[in-house]
Amino acid sequence: MLHEKLSSIYDNVLRRNPGEIEFHQAVREVLESIGPVLGKHPEYAESKIIERICEPERQIIFRVPWLDDRGEVQINRGFRVEFNSALGPYKGGLRFHPSVYLGIVKFLGFEQIFKNGLTGLPIGGGKGGSDFDPKGRSDREVMRFCQSFMTELYRHIGEYTDVPAGDIGVGGREVGYLFGQYKRITNRYESGVITGKGLAYGGAQVRKEATGYGCAFFVEEMLKARGTSFDGRRVVVSGSGNVAVYSIEKVTQLGGLVVACSDSSGYILDEKGIDLELLKQIKEVERARLDVYAARRGEGATFVPDRNVWDVPCEVAMPSATQNEITGKDAATLVAGGLVAVGEGANMPTTPEGIKVFLDAGVAFGPGKAANAGGVATSALEMQQNASRDSWTFEFSEHRLQEIMSDIHDRCLQTADEYGMPGNYVAGANIDGFRRVADAMLALGLI
Ligand code: NDP
Repeated sequence: MLHEKLSSIYDNVLRRNPGEIEFHQAVREVLESIGPVLGKHPEYAESKIIERICEPERQIIFRVPWLDDRGEVQINRGFRVEFNSALGPYKGGLRFHPSVYLGIVKFLGFEQIFKNGLTGLPIGGGKGGSDFDPKGRSDREVMRFCQSFMTELYRHIGEYTDVPAGDIGVGGREVGYLFGQYKRITNRYESGVITGKGLAYGGAQVRKEATGYGCAFFVEEMLKARGTSFDGRRVVVSGSGNVAVYSIEKVTQLGGLVVACSDSSGYILDEKGIDLELLKQIKEVERARLDVYAARRGEGATFVPDRNVWDVPCEVAMPSATQNEITGKDAATLVAGGLVAVGEGANMPTTPEGIKVFLDAGVAFGPGKAANAGGVATSALEMQQNASRDSWTFEFSEHRLQEIMSDIHDRCLQTADEYGMPGNYVAGANIDGFRRVADAMLALGLI
């Protein structure tokens, strides 16, 4: 239920952004949490902070022409939504996936504002991407696409303006080509303009691992708050990309047993626990599909094509693929199967109906804004190292990440307590993130 004033703001968002359903969903989730904040802070409503937060500061849409390997002209669409810079330069990744359109980029950019606020680091919120599909494209095609994309994007970004990173379909290879073209066009070695760089040219230790590791640390904190741990628990992770692989790695190190993961072709079930080296070889090196994993792993591992990984019973679920992948029905199946905790590695992977099922059942539910904030937090540490021309060790960087995740966890709980919703990490994350951004916006005046 929305507070009356918020309901009219939400109606206005629907009217001004027709058809952008993922954006509507992301706005609604935040508005549902912040009603009680308005009672305590009338100054936010007087300055129309919420209306201003819902309107991006700048939205850029551009043509990306490139030549494929057959010499044919291809045209894609590029986006960058610079949502809010009250706390620092716009910060948020780029997604390359055929489903990308303005509504997806705006939902991701909107979530990013509060997530970045929650980290306590000086970063604003933004997001971008393209409907380009890197799957099945050669390295040369991906390079030509990235170069064309950056040939337009470069004029909008900079280490003090807007700092992109990776997301779905944008990993180390793409970030390398994007940074290379930026450097070439600007004639500047401006390392802090993009994060997720390779270690050979200004990248930071633990950035690649940070979102997955951070999500595992966050779930560990939630379990600890309930007097338990990962030890011996059965875990299912969806996806098998960057976030999923490093969630599996850290959960395994923390004593959990990850028995399943997925991609868009189906899922693998491996009751002995996922063989991480094999998974990395297939996904990161060969860029192959998951059926190859089962074929090579042999006895005990099965590939289940075209089925939903959330049919596999588990005690901890870590959705790490894409938005709206856990429906209300999936959530009910998971709860019936003995679920204890959820850590959202992906952005908005649980539908509103699914979240309600988890909260009603008393499951420890870590929303993406909090649970996957380790990625962007470590990106901010990469910017810090680039600015001071320093590089930290793996151990130190991982320790910083762990501290940040533990701090985010504790602040979510404290804020939820303060507003009379004990244990509700969704309310805690939305309210804490919102207050930080709102206070900065008030201080900066009407801009
Ligand atoms: P990757 O591209 O590395 O991996 C994505 C994985 O999810 C792949 O296994 C992919 O399968 C699967 N997937 C993607 N879209 C779909 C879909 N529509 N249906 C089924 N499966 C799908 O991306 P990341 O691991 O970087 O990102 C995963 C999620 O984590 C996203 O929601 C992203 O926004 C979020 N995130 C990422 C961060 C980062 O640092 N990378 C930071 C914070 C959040 P397939 O290959 O078959 O498409």
